[in-house]
Amino acid sequence: MTDRILEFLRNRREDGPCLVLDLDVVRENYMSFSRAMPDTRVFYAVKANPDPNVLELLAGLGSCFDTASVVEIEQVLASGASADRISFGNTIKKERDILRAYQLGVRLFAVDCEAEVEKIARAAPGSRVFCRLLCDGAGAEWPLSRKFGCDPEMAPRVLEHAHRLGLTAFGLSFHVGSQQRNPGMWDGALKTAATIFRDLAERGIVLQMVNLGGGFPTRYLKNVPAVKAYAQSITRSLHKHFGNQIPETIIEPGRGMVGNAGVIEAEVVLISKKADADKVKWVYLDIGKFNGLAETMDEMIRYPIRTAFDGDSTEPCVLAGPSCDSVDVLYEKEPYFLPVSLEIGSKVLIEGTGAYTTTYSSVGFNGFPPLKSYVI
Ligand SMILES: *Cc1c(COP(=O)(O)O)cnc(C)c1O
Repeated sequence: MTDRILEFLRNRREDGPCLVLDLDVVRENYMSFSRAMPDTRVFYAVKANPDPNVLELLAGLGSCFDTASVVEIEQVLASGASADRISFGNTIKKERDILRAYQLGVRLFAVDCEAEVEKIARAAPGSRVFCRLLCDGAGAEWPLSRKFGCDPEMAPRVLEHAHRLGLTAFGLSFHVGSQQRNPGMWDGALKTAATIFRDLAERGIVLQMVNLGGGFPTRYLKNVPAVKAYAQSITRSLHKHFGNQIPETIIEPGRGMVGNAGVIEAEVVLISKKADADKVKWVYLDIGKFNGLAETMDEMIRYPIRTAFDGDSTEPCVLAGPSCDSVDVLYEKEPYFLPVSLEIGSKVLIEGTGAYTTTYSSVGFNGFPPLKSYVI
């Protein structure tokens, strides 16, 4: 929460929930990453928040970009970054999208199987590819297990295939799970990566790069270690497993770059009880799972919520969104403590909402418009 955001909200007159994102915080986050990891290039994960102002700021600061689609590539190019600063990091791509990316100048692609390598060899000849490794995401609050990456046993074969088809077998990538609160979680993946580097070197293929992925957390209700702690732990692991032959490294922060830069202002629509004897109140907001807070799915991300009544005594509440869908409940298994004095019509501020909110908002389910966003 910054004074700039509070000042903006004081002057706002429109109705409905909105996200306000402070670019100064994004700039600080970028500087923290580049200061803590000076030898590592930053590829901002565009999906976390593709607002043109965010992309332009980061392009100006020298960031590179991790993209998942042709539209994201076009958004990055429109921000002023050149194609050599873009990675097409999605392992699941249509061949015609690979071709389109290639025509736009992109030469760095993620793969996790031989079929994807073949598409890239046909549509983007001569490009650099990195192979994504499966990573179980243990310890992460938003794990990304199973869907992306191949078993480490398979990776050398995938990269060898790329080499054989005239591509540059460039390196390896992994993602330790989003909102990863344990800086030690990169160690196991780096150990595996080093083994694959040695294995392929013996076969005459010299990999150059390790993509350390995202996973850097933002502060929600619980404290998280600073970027510096992650940098130290990762550097230690790199030395331990690669000795004096440390490869080029990149990181792909999404949440860690924009999460704490945003605050959502929302309003209490209704406070009620389901039965006289109920201990727990229901608090309904004008924002829910379908207009910005999708990451409350399975109650995985618990956002800090500020009210004008903070400091008063609190009571457990079920927190729910406004739509007529019964899955639109934010916190119920673990009720959320809110001030007893909270009233219908009260504004609430939901912190840490700069990442994975605006684009996770539906186009108009139940007539609720997509989440408004202001970048200041
Ligand atoms: C989503 C994603 C990221 C960003 O992850 P965060 O945990 O938000 O930092 C990075 N890399 C890839 C390949 C991704 O899909």
